[in-house]
Amino acid sequence: MPKENYDVSIVVPIYNEKSGIPELYKRLTQALKVNAGPYEIIFIDDASSDGSFEVLKELHEQNMTSVKVLRLSRNFGHQLAITAGLRVAQGKGVIVMDGDLQDPPEVIPEFIRKWESGYDIVYGVRKERQGETFFKKFTAKIFYKLIRTVTNIGIPENVGDFYLLDRKVVTALNAMDERHRFLRGMVAWLGFKRTGVEYVREPRFSGQTKYTLWKMVKFSFDAATSFSFTPLRVISMMGAFFSVVAFLGILVIFYEKLFTDRTITGWSSLMVVVLFLGGIQLLSVGLIGEYVARIGDDVKRRPLYTVSEYLE
Ligand code: UDP
Ligand code: MG
Repeated sequence: MPKENYDVSIVVPIYNEKSGIPELYKRLTQALKVNAGPYEIIFIDDASSDGSFEVLKELHEQNMTSVKVLRLSRNFGHQLAITAGLRVAQGKGVIVMDGDLQDPPEVIPEFIRKWESGYDIVYGVRKERQGETFFKKFTAKIFYKLIRTVTNIGIPENVGDFYLLDRKVVTALNAMDERHRFLRGMVAWLGFKRTGVEYVREPRFSGQTKYTLWKMVKFSFDAATSFSFTPLRVISMMGAFFSVVAFLGILVIFYEKLFTDRTITGWSSLMVVVLFLGGIQLLSVGLIGEYVARIGDDVKRRPLYTVSEYLE
């Protein structure tokens, strides 16, 4: 396969974004004219069911050299779709952006300027989020607070998956083949010389968010467990605390039994303690299970995604 010489690759995950694709393509190519040099746009179709693939295929047929389409065999999710794109991208720099125009292509020239001035990672910082529900902003805020407290790799706040990575960063990232991926964390973990560019996060051009509440919960768990053992430490600390309390309780009970004739009543208090501790134990086992399940997934060493078609 002849290696083409692209300066930049743009990786765009697409999941049921049919109605927005023409506008995305128009604005993206407009922005790339500024200073991108020869480029390739790689659309990763995360098994859309709305005919996005047909639209992308047509785009590919009209622009054979610059538009590529990788279709996954089923819906693997945003993070794995990007991963697939990063692995086929050939550019000296790779830009990752959402396919719903929430990440404005007009910021890209600035990304490229920063990259050319010597930065290896240039990421977009959302200084404002437009057209998103209160719930989305609120959960996002809690998410970032939580992630920043439990991990200590310096994940910048208000940063999504909108960034430019130098080839050496992409190579490093491609060598990390864990299954439960939290890409912006992995990028932060890598280090390198990085900087941010502020932008206003626009409302979606069309369609609606593909991140269901369940996908967000899964994503948060992946983020927390792949960069931190804090949850496990909290469990150990709770265990230590309750052991001390129990030990003191036992001393009190022995004392009362041997040296006084007070009878201890109180079914309710007993019940409360039993239920409380039972709850904490289940929670702890569940949390440990989350880590174990991820180990299991990684040990199987299945491919991270499977491709059904690649139009290159
Ligand atoms: N996406 C994807 N697979 C999925 C969910 C989303 O490829 O399972 C894509 C989606 O098409 C979009 C990007 O990932 O281009 C971000 O998703 P979305 O806009 O729904 O997330 P939000 O911006 O609401 O966090
Ligand atoms: Mg979006």
